[in-house]
Amino acid sequence: MEYYGETAKTARHIVTDYLFPQLEGESPLDIGPLHHAMDKAVKGHPYAKAALDIALHDLAGKELGVPVSKLLGGQHRNRMPIAHSLGIMETDKAVSEAEEAVEEGVETIKVKAGLDPERDVDLIRRLREALGPDVTIRVDANEGYDLPSEAARVIKEMNEYDIAYMEQPVSDVEDMAQVARDVSVPLMADEGAWTRQNILSLREHRAAELFALYVTKPGGLYRARQVGVVAEAAGMQCDIGGSIEMGIGNAANLHLGAAVPIAELASVTPVNRPAEAYDDQIASVYYEDDIVADPFGYEDGAVLVPEGPGLGIEVDEEKLAEYSIEADA
Ligand SMILES: [Mg+2]
Repeated sequence: MEYYGETAKTARHIVTDYLFPQLEGESPLDIGPLHHAMDKAVKGHPYAKAALDIALHDLAGKELGVPVSKLLGGQHRNRMPIAHSLGIMETDKAVSEAEEAVEEGVETIKVKAGLDPERDVDLIRRLREALGPDVTIRVDANEGYDLPSEAARVIKEMNEYDIAYMEQPVSDVEDMAQVARDVSVPLMADEGAWTRQNILSLREHRAAELFALYVTKPGGLYRARQVGVVAEAAGMQCDIGGSIEMGIGNAANLHLGAAVPIAELASVTPVNRPAEAYDDQIASVYYEDDIVADPFGYEDGAVLVPEGPGLGIEVDEEKLAEYSIEADA
């Protein structure tokens, strides 16, 4: 739907040559005016802006001695329920991974679909049979269905096995609205929900009741908080979307999730851990190591929001160097 096509190389160029010069010598507490200065310096590039926005919030929080969630208005919650995400994988493997995650306390399973309608419906049936009636199953099609009519048919078939909602079955906002009119399952917008303007359009078209709120896609925490306010006015609910971030990005996601009242849905939030803290947990553990010095807290299917000032995490500089990629390679 709406893509900006940023890469590590473009982000580094935009940050170094356009955005950082707007921030030099300024106070991190002036986050709003600094966003306006960044937007004036260069349009778009929300992921590059989000990187600096997260740094500004971390600095501002440390300066004031408060967690980032306080800068965003305070905590509505201090733990984020996990949706364990099953990537596109063979059905038997997906079912056993889901069973293991549920044994570890997870109450929501997120299924990636959209490749093959028959396989998708069969997987949902197998999961429901294996997990029983109490586990929430949500589906993300990543715009994978060709036609709204096909999407509607597949959603109805899946809902024989009780799915909580369907994320972005088709791309276009009017196609989403067509599917929404045809099914009783709530739709969630992800690829179609970047900005405040996208939320207004989704509302106008009655295209989705739910959406995925990212730190990155609106251009950082400051803008994401604004998207949350517009969506609250539109009567929508959200989860916190992400790209299975490592510790820094995930800490920002958690502070946003704590501070946005409508972020009530279980989220694909990784449990970031340095290799030294690794055990055999699989629920929401997607990497074998991380750049944070201490593991994120995990309790009964939820990730705990970090508590210290700023982002509340400590970065392991050696690991950061080890895992850094050459952006201009
Ligand atoms: Mg998605």
